[in-house]
Amino acid sequence: MEKKILVTRSSMPSLEEYTDEIKDIWESHWLTNFGKKHAELTEKLTEYLGVKKLQLTVNGHMAIELALTAMGLRGEVITTPFTFASTTHAIIRTGLKPVFCDINPDDCTMDVSKLESLITDKTSAILPIHVYGNICDVEAIEDIAKRHHLKVIYDAAHTFGETYKGRGIGSFGDVSAFSFHATKVYNTIEGGAVCYTDEEFGRSLYELVDFGIKDEETVTGVGSNAKFNEFCAAMGLCNLRHVDAEIAKRQKVVERYREKLKDIPGLGLKPVQKDVKDNFAYFPIFVDPQNYGKTRNELCDILASHGIYTRKYFYPLTSDFDCYKGVLDPGDTPVAKKTASQVLTLPLFADLSLDDVDRICDIINHPVDDLSRRQSK
Ligand SMILES: *Cc1c(COP(=O)(O)O)cnc(C)c1O
Repeated sequence: MEKKILVTRSSMPSLEEYTDEIKDIWESHWLTNFGKKHAELTEKLTEYLGVKKLQLTVNGHMAIELALTAMGLRGEVITTPFTFASTTHAIIRTGLKPVFCDINPDDCTMDVSKLESLITDKTSAILPIHVYGNICDVEAIEDIAKRHHLKVIYDAAHTFGETYKGRGIGSFGDVSAFSFHATKVYNTIEGGAVCYTDEEFGRSLYELVDFGIKDEETVTGVGSNAKFNEFCAAMGLCNLRHVDAEIAKRQKVVERYREKLKDIPGLGLKPVQKDVKDNFAYFPIFVDPQNYGKTRNELCDILASHGIYTRKYFYPLTSDFDCYKGVLDPGDTPVAKKTASQVLTLPLFADLSLDDVDRICDIINHPVDDLSRRQSK
């Protein structure tokens, strides 16, 4: 039987490198609450990402949630529904109302031509998502936000290490939130960060990460516990040493996919964006059933019959989640709806072999079920 290929595989340092890194944690007995590893990783990531200030958080979700809280926003936040649950949940969980804007059909980020018509006197912020490593139209968004006095919070979970015109992607907007979850290009097991420039915002965020505690006897914010611990920081320090090499390996995989899949009728690929240093985070394909001859779901099942596990990422739209039925206005987002019905992200990780990529592409080229596997089930 052919071997299984999962959609992702977490990057890890060698066991020796990690045990070396955590030795001084045993000596200090300092496990969490802004320790030495936390400080070291903060400094290194600030530099690597090319941002002014950075606050580590327990995960990417709390980075978004606490950034929204620290800004003291009210009313409506314009966002897109073609994202992970986290983005929309963060808006709702902080008492704000998401207003859904449609996306571009090619790069899947916010369609800025539809943004301004959604701004009302209740709008306080824009929360766009850099999807699959495709960056948003940061210039247009900045211009619109300035004219309407709105805050901009980027969900940058997919864009670790990317630059636009040589500038760190996390330095755009008032705030950018990264995720360092195990499945991301760079991981700290679980973790995240808020990148920002405003010092006052930073102080308030720092307190909110630790229950809103200002000092031993003063609690000024209704905070949470979103502290980033020393073991995750140690993992982050190790993985940061290898992330450039991992991205280079991912690039090889992506180039092979592109070469093999570029001329298949009915299959759309992600665009290559100008002036962007890519991180090769995801490889989505867009299946047009009329021209490809199979639906996205059929292709997903056929690949699975060969032991190849893909992901319908993102499907469904967050605006279609059961928990929001009758609660949220899903908005008018036909492009996002169509994209969610056609997208399939293929296996992609640094150690995926080019032979495996070829095997995946051959099946996509001749999509037939592996019947032997069906029968042996
Ligand atoms: C992963 C992800 C998040 C959440 O990050 P966690 O670290 O898993 O909490 C938010 N938004 C997007 C787009 C993501 O992919």
